[in-house]
Amino acid sequence: MNAPQKYVYLFGSSRTEGSADMKNLLGGKGANLAEMCRLGITVPSGFTISTEACTAFTELGRETVLGMIRDEVLQGVKFVETEMGRRFGNASDPLLLSVRSGARASMPGMMDTILNLGLNDEAVLGLAAKSGNARFAWDSYRRFIQMYGDVVMGLKPLSKEEHDPFEIIIDTLKEKRQVKLDTDLDAQDLKELVQRFKALIRARTGHDFPTDPWEQLWGSIWAVFESWNNDRAKVYRELNDIPQSWGTAVNVQAMVFGNLGEHSATGVAFSRDAGTGEDLFNGEFLVNAQGEDVVAGIRTPQQVSLIGSRRWAELALVSEADRASKYPSLEELMPHIYAQLLHFETTLENHFKDMQDIEFTIQEGKLWMLQTRNGKRTGSAMVRIAMEMLQQGMIDEKTAIMRVAPDRLNELLHPVFDHQALADATPIARGLPASPGAATGQIVFFADDAESWAKQGKAVILVRQETSPEDLRGMSVAKGILTARGGMTSHAAVVARGMGKCCVSGAGAVHVDMKARSMRIGDTDYFEGDWISLNGTTGEVYLGKIATRDAELSGDFGKLMALADIHKHMEVRTNADTPDEARMARSFGATGIGLCRTEHMFFEGERITAVREMILADNEAQRRKALTKLLPIQRDDFEGLFAAMDGLPVTIRLLDPPLHEFLPHDDANQRLMAADMHVSLGKIKMRVEELHEFNPMMGHRGCRLGISYPEITEMQARAVFEAGLNMRAKGIDVKAEIMVPLVGTLREFNLQAEVIRRTAAAVFAERGETLPYLLGTMIETPRASLVADSIATQAEFFSFGTNDLTQMTLGFSRDDAGKFLPDYLKQGVYEHDPFRSIDQIGVGALVQMAVQKGRSVRPDIEVGVCGEHGGDPASVAFFHRAGLNYVSCSPYRVPIARLAAAQAAISG
Ligand code: PEP
Ligand code: MG
Repeated sequence: MNAPQKYVYLFGSSRTEGSADMKNLLGGKGANLAEMCRLGITVPSGFTISTEACTAFTELGRETVLGMIRDEVLQGVKFVETEMGRRFGNASDPLLLSVRSGARASMPGMMDTILNLGLNDEAVLGLAAKSGNARFAWDSYRRFIQMYGDVVMGLKPLSKEEHDPFEIIIDTLKEKRQVKLDTDLDAQDLKELVQRFKALIRARTGHDFPTDPWEQLWGSIWAVFESWNNDRAKVYRELNDIPQSWGTAVNVQAMVFGNLGEHSATGVAFSRDAGTGEDLFNGEFLVNAQGEDVVAGIRTPQQVSLIGSRRWAELALVSEADRASKYPSLEELMPHIYAQLLHFETTLENHFKDMQDIEFTIQEGKLWMLQTRNGKRTGSAMVRIAMEMLQQGMIDEKTAIMRVAPDRLNELLHPVFDHQALADATPIARGLPASPGAATGQIVFFADDAESWAKQGKAVILVRQETSPEDLRGMSVAKGILTARGGMTSHAAVVARGMGKCCVSGAGAVHVDMKARSMRIGDTDYFEGDWISLNGTTGEVYLGKIATRDAELSGDFGKLMALADIHKHMEVRTNADTPDEARMARSFGATGIGLCRTEHMFFEGERITAVREMILADNEAQRRKALTKLLPIQRDDFEGLFAAMDGLPVTIRLLDPPLHEFLPHDDANQRLMAADMHVSLGKIKMRVEELHEFNPMMGHRGCRLGISYPEITEMQARAVFEAGLNMRAKGIDVKAEIMVPLVGTLREFNLQAEVIRRTAAAVFAERGETLPYLLGTMIETPRASLVADSIATQAEFFSFGTNDLTQMTLGFSRDDAGKFLPDYLKQGVYEHDPFRSIDQIGVGALVQMAVQKGRSVRPDIEVGVCGEHGGDPASVAFFHRAGLNYVSCSPYRVPIARLAAAQAAISG
């Protein structure tokens, strides 16, 4: 007979069944708790119920899973009882438990937690007697009822303006007692809260609060499994690409208490700075408090280290004397504990070889570690930590490259506030620099408003007293987040850093009035819709909008990029239409232009008139006349590009879009055009009518234009060759590549190639010199992929236009797919938006086939991609595997593609 499947894994000082490499089964938290036990670090004993039980719970339901895990859970509780020397459900000295979620990937605050489990009306008396602290016992009990009431019994606020119903009861009692802080309530008050909470639960749910500890335990286990599928967890998974199928583990662990008096505390710390990446142990703690008090941002926490504390005081405008007396660091307050914490932190960082985010509790002078994980960090911290760990010899080059998520480089490329504009701006408040960056936007006070305003295209700053996981969606669309309460490890700060979003937290001078939708700073009120700016790097809040400037690629970022270039196989070019874009992309490391969309130049200034003249022409002679005006303009454009890319290839594509795109479609602008060009309105309307197509993207565009009107191709080719020769005369190293769009047959390519080669011969004869150039084609119709071997007999290079190739392969209009794609993604028809990340098995198969067919007749054919996918890391990895020579993407994506290409090469 097979052994029954194991669902529960123990961890403690006498026995540990899990380890760090069991994250899939035990979740990140459970696996690392086990690993800490193995490293000899003090961890309260417990057990982890595996993610497989969660998956079974979702599929088979509670009763079946109960049958599967009951005996193991009973054994688990026995184990904890033995380790901790207390009995679960014992009224005189009860073992209390915590029940926490823990998925494979960390999802901070998205799922549920229950603390102090096992308390009831008798056990609370036992706890009071045993601890000699009645206030503590009743406070633990009321917290337990509050959490259990919320998480398991579903007592939530009734509306978004409403506070938590339990908090309302607490506030009412505080008012009655005329006290300000929760800590001012005495044991008798807390006992009264317990009665009122229970009455509230009975009134709202019709059920009594359960007094049987086992009923409490099972209720909590099921609630944590269920929380895998709550709304905020789903949103988080969507935003972070975490599969629904993973499920969460449940960690059941002995409680330790940070709220047993002045020798107890609880805190959160990072082995390096999660905002800047600086190699500095830092963190926050609260004396006489439980863990959720630090994260909830309700009290202002103290700093773990003395350096951190001094830095904090400077930002918070607290004098050294006040700091040392009112907010001393842990290093000053409990030096022995601090030394032990520092030792644990160093052990963990050296063991995991990555920045650790740890949670700890000090119970009456004894340090307990509750969690360790690789810490979330900003894009710049990612880069700095990877490069410094490389320098410190902790990790090798490949690991350093793999440590940085390419997309997160975006944050380092984002604009920062312009120095001058910042100097002229009016500061109105200051908080903690919780997540760096610059943000300007209109104030909103609710997360759902942030969403709806952002949908209307508005830039918003979400201002909250403190944030909670419910605010996630609003936070993700806001330009920045400002909170009145909370430290560097508050929910707002942690989540914002994870999102790479600018955040200022704990701006104490800000008083938020949710009902009035306003905030008061000093004597001034600011309302919903007012403009403010945040500097997440300094914690400063300013009035109004502030101008920004472009970021630079330097320091550790520059070093990481240099490293990426050593490891990557593919080149990274850029899609650029102007010399400015080309220069910027070059400064970001582009090694060529992979696509110049010539039509983008046609809209500027006077040019559009010449373009329209060409479109209105009745015959070839008239068209040639108009094209003569365009020739010098195009030549200028190309000269600028060749100069900017001196020594690097410049791929110029012939005119591609349907001509109707160059004509106005509304009456008013048609009239303006008629007056401007001295032609009749009727003629314009007629031409617009003639150019109308039911499906212009499949219509008269691409090489079809050049085949109907070879003189257009002729003009463009002439402009390229003349510009090339002119620039070469000035000492520029010109590497021209001419590209034919939308080819589907060899004959199409040949027709255009003939015009280009003939024009080259004519220009070279006129000038008495030649210019080497490559003549190639886009591969962007499925047919072109299918006959790529035939096309490669003539084409000297291929560039995959994966935008059109996706559109035509999937039969999804590039312009209209937005109507149904969200439904498709939700229902799993495609895993990702196929216009953002390449559909590897469908469109990708066409790419692979074309590469292989192309190389079968021309082994050294140069193959690249210039669709949007060239800047998407997952697609870049695919193109690497398909053997492409280069990807080409917009200038701001160039560093991202360089890193992604290096990671692809390392991953093989
Ligand atoms: C493409 O189709 O992928 C491409 C690069 O061309 P465009 O986007 O200009 O159609
Ligand atoms: Mg295209």
